[in-house]
Amino acid sequence: MTTQFPSATIVGYPRIGRRRELKKAVESYWAGHTSLADLTETARELRLATYQHLADLGLDPANAAIPATFSYYDQVLDTATHVGAVPHRFTEVYDGDEVTLAGYFTLARGDSAQAPLEMTKWFDSNYHYLVPELSATTAFRVTSNAIVDDFVEAKNAGFITRPSLIGPVTFLLLSKAAEDAGEDYTPLDSLKDILPAYRELLARLHAAGAPWIQLDESALVADHDLDPAKLAAAIDEAYTALTAATDRPQIFVNTAYGSLKENLTPLAATGIDAIHLDLFKGDLPSAKELELLRGKVVVAGVVDGHNIWANNLDRSIKTLESIKPNVDALSVSTSTSLLHVPYTLEDEQALDPELRSWLAFADEKVAEVVQLARFLDEPESITEALTANRAARSSRETHPGVRVEAIRQRTGALDSGAFTRAAFADRASAQSESLKLPELPTTTIGSFPQTAQVRSARARLNKGALTQDEYTALMQDEIKRVIDLQEELGFDVLVHGEPERNDMVQYFAENLDGFDVTSNGWVQSYGSRCTRPSILWGDVSRPAPITVPWSTYAQSLTEKPVKGMLTGPVTILAWSFARDDQSLGDTANQVALALRDEIDDLQTAGIGIIQVDEPALRELLPLRKEDQAGYLDWSVNAFRLATAGAHSQTQIHTHLCYSEFGEVIDAIDGLDADVTSIEAARSKMEVVNDLDRHGFSRGVGPGVYDIHSPRVPSEEEVSELLERAVAKVPAAQLWVNPDCGLKTRGYAETEASLRNLVAATRRARANLNQLVSP
Ligand code: GLN
Ligand code: ZN
Repeated sequence: MTTQFPSATIVGYPRIGRRRELKKAVESYWAGHTSLADLTETARELRLATYQHLADLGLDPANAAIPATFSYYDQVLDTATHVGAVPHRFTEVYDGDEVTLAGYFTLARGDSAQAPLEMTKWFDSNYHYLVPELSATTAFRVTSNAIVDDFVEAKNAGFITRPSLIGPVTFLLLSKAAEDAGEDYTPLDSLKDILPAYRELLARLHAAGAPWIQLDESALVADHDLDPAKLAAAIDEAYTALTAATDRPQIFVNTAYGSLKENLTPLAATGIDAIHLDLFKGDLPSAKELELLRGKVVVAGVVDGHNIWANNLDRSIKTLESIKPNVDALSVSTSTSLLHVPYTLEDEQALDPELRSWLAFADEKVAEVVQLARFLDEPESITEALTANRAARSSRETHPGVRVEAIRQRTGALDSGAFTRAAFADRASAQSESLKLPELPTTTIGSFPQTAQVRSARARLNKGALTQDEYTALMQDEIKRVIDLQEELGFDVLVHGEPERNDMVQYFAENLDGFDVTSNGWVQSYGSRCTRPSILWGDVSRPAPITVPWSTYAQSLTEKPVKGMLTGPVTILAWSFARDDQSLGDTANQVALALRDEIDDLQTAGIGIIQVDEPALRELLPLRKEDQAGYLDWSVNAFRLATAGAHSQTQIHTHLCYSEFGEVIDAIDGLDADVTSIEAARSKMEVVNDLDRHGFSRGVGPGVYDIHSPRVPSEEEVSELLERAVAKVPAAQLWVNPDCGLKTRGYAETEASLRNLVAATRRARANLNQLVSP
């Protein structure tokens, strides 16, 4: 059975629920408040309601236009549990040969015996997926029928959906070798073994009547440490094998997040039936490339799935018209899954109507896709939409907040001096004189546990049930408690604890001009966790000091130095919806200048140490090597611009987490921070080897305990990690701190953990002194 590919589609839709129904349902099941049956019923309702909603928005319910991209937790885990990619260390996740839903959650969240699968960032987005662990002995086979059951469930309700899986090549490239896999195993070695499981799933879907399947192959738009010929051979092997069978749905390969480049030729040479091209972020394919795609449906991803700006319909029309003559069949789609954007602008009635007219969330993007597809058939059908689209664009271009002359003059006048501090050696001696810190100074990353009282105070302030003064007093109480606690524990550099911040980016967005925040703009970050990114729409400036009153209050309570705490320009951009009408580098410099002013006010107010967090530095790293140097250049420069106004005796810290930093160590060095704290405990201090190899000369605090779980590390554990650090980092450079902020932790475990951290540090200091004077 072959059916035409739908003329309009999307490659994925948010799944957490417009009212976060799925989040609430899974968390309530995890907490033991509701049954598995309650959860599966909520999920079923959510899936069917989503199909109906997408049909109402114009996607063809009878012809595979609606992608079945529901997930209880993560789409990579979904594929893993369908093909038997379950590490040997998990034994209790099966019922017979099927992974149960309870077992699925165990893989995602761990249990008392096993740590969960590792989590890492999904391409260049802030979504995190679970990393499958494979080895040559992984027994690939079909271990779930959920994809088929969901298809049948939808069909019985009147929807012919398009089931989707991570494609085999991408699945293997995103996986890692299990610890017991042996030195020379790499997951791509398992290609031959994994394909039969895919074949079997395709056969089952075909038998159930599915006309199309979507296989996500976004790893083909990224560079890997892999011989390109080997990758081409893998693409050929996978898709030749999958298309050889006749008992299969037609195969649609989705390649979101960039350009296929050299991988287009091998993919085009296989018998796949439809191919998605990201034409928003990726390049326009040449006529020659399109020639290679003859006989296949080209699915043009012209509507940006990764950001919230309304589509430029004129530009998309131009793209579609330029391709149309050179392809046999053309469909319209989003560039990526809509997973990265909130559900709908309907839920943002508080947003300024003019700003709203510039935006498109998931539902509005579906409407754009439908409109553009209709245009291909009847060009006149779009006239009215085009007029409105042009009007919104011109309102955006001429809005006074979008281009503020004073801000542009300031960024335009920057010279290289604005990016450079005094030599590190001079700074180091000025700082050691003014700060008088002991050897192996101890500190934390910034936030302390956000208690129920703190959150409730903020909620009451927002509802108008607390005055600003009452709220300030409550936050000051919390700051005092955090300062007293650190004094009692014996920390050397204290923090105020960040109680006043709901979120480290949104807090600054709320206090800077050029941003707006949404009421319901939730986006899934991982599992049941969502964030609410702010909208960076205009030129950025700082109307008034932001953190100065909190930091100076904290400093007034203690003789020890209190570290000021700011979020860096790259992280502010990465975790917001950033404007798309100028380069990110230009936007980053505006944010940097606002932070520079804040730093100046902090040091004038007597704050001698200021941390500028950049946990997202690695996240925006482009997927293609050729684009990476340009990115690192502007991102490092923005950080330098933010911090280079600091006096020599002001000690600048930065903090990085969430990923492997080995490959961007040059950039970290380029930040020129006096002290850098890095997440390191989970990788058992791996990063100190990278630092050692690189010859890092400034202060560094590799995290000595993992804050992502409530577990309290013993003094011995911390000591062991500290010893590893001392072995590679000169003691004069070494700081002692946890992996990250303590915001999500409780006070009991935090106190116990920090006590052990200080005790281990004292022991390490004693050892060092013995070494020096035997
Ligand atoms: N200063 C922030 C905190 O401690 C840093 C958080 C982060 O790195 N994500 O919460
Ligand atoms: Zn962190």
